[in-house]
Amino acid sequence: MQEHERYDVVVVGAGPSGSAVSRWIAQEGFSVLLVEEDQRVGYPNHCAGLVTPRTLNLAGLETDSLVQNELRGAIIRSPSGRELSIGGGKIHALAIDRPRLDAKLAQEAEEAGARLLLHTRATNFERQGDGVRIHLDNERRDSVVETRLLIGADGASSSVARWANLPGPREVVRALNALVRLPNCAEDFVEVFVGRSLAPGWFAWIIPLGDGEARLGTGTTQGSPARCLNELMAAFPRRFRKIEMLEVSGGLIPLGTPNKIHSDNVMLVGDAACQVKLTSGGGVYTGLRGARSCAQAATHALRNDDLTAESLRCYHASWLEQMGDEQEVGVLVRKVFARIRDEDFDRGLRLLDNKTMLRIISEYGDMDHPSRLLAPLISAFPVLSILSSLGVRLANRDEWVKNVIGILRTSR
Ligand SMILES: Cc1cc2nc3c(=O)[nH]c(=O)nc-3n(C[C@H](O)[C@H](O)[C@H](O)COP(=O)(O)OP(=O)(O)OC[C@H]3O[C@@H](n4cnc5c(N)ncnc54)[C@H](O)[C@@H]3O)c2cc1C
Repeated sequence: MQEHERYDVVVVGAGPSGSAVSRWIAQEGFSVLLVEEDQRVGYPNHCAGLVTPRTLNLAGLETDSLVQNELRGAIIRSPSGRELSIGGGKIHALAIDRPRLDAKLAQEAEEAGARLLLHTRATNFERQGDGVRIHLDNERRDSVVETRLLIGADGASSSVARWANLPGPREVVRALNALVRLPNCAEDFVEVFVGRSLAPGWFAWIIPLGDGEARLGTGTTQGSPARCLNELMAAFPRRFRKIEMLEVSGGLIPLGTPNKIHSDNVMLVGDAACQVKLTSGGGVYTGLRGARSCAQAATHALRNDDLTAESLRCYHASWLEQMGDEQEVGVLVRKVFARIRDEDFDRGLRLLDNKTMLRIISEYGDMDHPSRLLAPLISAFPVLSILSSLGVRLANRDEWVKNVIGILRTSR
């Protein structure tokens, strides 16, 4: 019988989640092979690169060479042209060089001892004895490697999830991301465009990078994001009059944590496990949080030489413990978003346009943990107590959504 290379762990996909999980497992002394189908880590870039400072701390990386701009707030625009500026105090987010982040994380994984194989696509797997065999296609040369644990960090259209019969996302946003030259961008404010007519089921954004450059993007759950981009430019002709497109790319945002993200000898992490914020589609922070939990559960199981689904179960539990409440709030926000009409966005912006409300949002608003805003908001506005996290968990979801839309529609 042919001898194959053998690793404790094979990770498919060198995005941030795959490289981080490889690094954290390799640091514990296990052999790790990280395979990436692209020739260069980080390219093509499909991400808008907006993350919180906390994300870079979690990644354990120096921020200096990664940060392109510091963002203090957002200007939200409705289809009728109404706008509201929120934030403005502390730095809420960073625009980062996403390919460089991916490259640094992959380098850290290699320095920790993981072997990185570029231009290598995982094409199939089969279970064998107490492990897994993975078929690789490396520049048209087929090979097989054996492992005790396969980790699928292969993004929104995860092949590993399909092979292992693990469920995919409940909802998918098709998104487009462009590097543009655009005059008159606010220096340190993101612009967000909402409206069913502009971005059905999602929103559009402009992230200023400085020196007249910005990242412009849009997403939708229905139809084509390119069409949404055209609609957006047609709706705000003066805003986009002098735009110059430099680079355009696209990608999928998988939403809705599935109820299973592991099986015997297999774990999913990052976008492959739909570890994405339902409110914004951001997945770098949540993917790194997932990678932390995944690495902890994996190293424990490897040490005990028990890679059964039962032994890996603590991974899903740990992920839910950290992000379950946020996902729960996200599900409700998505439900409201699905029912809301263009005129409701105007009412919503009017409702938010209140000094105390804006102060609280600026002080407590947290892109990674939006639910942390609920308690201070409810304490200042008791009428919002139906939003309480207890209510969120206990209430009939449809009733909750109806109440929120009721507040919107009766507001003046
Ligand atoms: C338009 C757009 C804008 C976004 N903007 C933001 C943002 O501003 N902030 C934010 O936090 N998130 C953003 N996201 C989401 C973010 O990009 C993802 O959540 C993040 O990339 C997930 O990281 P990952 O490592 O799980 O997967 P990925 O980054 O998708 O990496 C998966 C890797 O697996 C490789 N791969 C796939 N299949 C195979 C295979 N069979 N064999 C070998 N390799 C394989 C791929 O080449 C890829 O490198 C955005 C997404 C989109 C689409």
